[in-house]
Amino acid sequence: MNTLLETKDLRIEFPAGDGKWAEALCGVDLSLDPGEVLGIVGESGSGKSIAMMALLQLLPKGARVTGSARFKGKELIGMAPSRIRQLRGKSIGCVFQDPLSAFNSVLRIGDQIAEAITLHDRSISKRAALKEAERLFELVAIPQPAKRVSQYPHEFSGGMRQRAMIAMALANRPELLIADEPTTALDVTVQAQILDLLRDLRKDLGIGLVLITHDLGVVAGLADKIAVMYGGRIVERGTTDDVFYHTAHPYTAGLIGAVPSLDGDGPLQQIDGTPPSIFNRPAGCSFHPRCSYTQPACQAGVPSLMNTGHTDCACHFPLVKPRAEVAE
Ligand code: SF4
Repeated sequence: MNTLLETKDLRIEFPAGDGKWAEALCGVDLSLDPGEVLGIVGESGSGKSIAMMALLQLLPKGARVTGSARFKGKELIGMAPSRIRQLRGKSIGCVFQDPLSAFNSVLRIGDQIAEAITLHDRSISKRAALKEAERLFELVAIPQPAKRVSQYPHEFSGGMRQRAMIAMALANRPELLIADEPTTALDVTVQAQILDLLRDLRKDLGIGLVLITHDLGVVAGLADKIAVMYGGRIVERGTTDDVFYHTAHPYTAGLIGAVPSLDGDGPLQQIDGTPPSIFNRPAGCSFHPRCSYTQPACQAGVPSLMNTGHTDCACHFPLVKPRAEVAE
């Protein structure tokens, strides 16, 4: 099977003054096959969102991107802006955290979706595009689609707006959908509905899905594999089962401990401290100021990803013994 998306040694730097650069993403390798779901998990500032923004050339001006990111074999890094615009919104759809700001508040939602369709296919009439918007509303389970397409964003609830955002992302039948914190602003019931919807869409349409979130609980029932990011690096990656049942990195263990369980078995754990700044990253393992397993050797060098027999883990003292170093 051909890989849908593959990054190799992807790096992003921002100017830090005096001709210096600060690395926000420090060499990330990811891959996704068609129809697969990859969960990228980490706190704010871990680099999970900017990795995807780099692919789509949506980073702020001045950012320097190196390494490789291939979509169906085509190199995206350095691709001409006109070509990347053709891919964005067509072959690659995006769902963002805050659909209210993603939609134009003074235009009807149906018109905005129709515009997204006609922008990529001039042969479609506005009327046909509006009909397609209605079909998409039906697909994402928005009730009364014919009425809803002529409404404005403020007339939708938060959950409905998120469904409309997903409908817009699917407008041009993308092969890859990138969903960045798609459920963060929603209450738990609506969150579960949106996750069910993404699960159905992946099954029915066979699209590849990258799900970016700070909450491991969100990806648990949906992702085939997980990459846990911290301080601009992948610190653990593996199949979802392996990441949950053979956790090797203390940071992953902390994230799992922070997921509420239905048994209510003991208090929720928290990871003390805050994520590192890209302008002042701790020496060695950048998690060491917050890690309960830290030892003096942790500050000596940045740990490489090692295969533990289950996951790949970047820790000098993994919770599961490593077997071999793997290519980063
Ligand atoms: Fe903790 Fe050390 Fe592993 Fe970093 S390398 S996660 S500080 S044990």
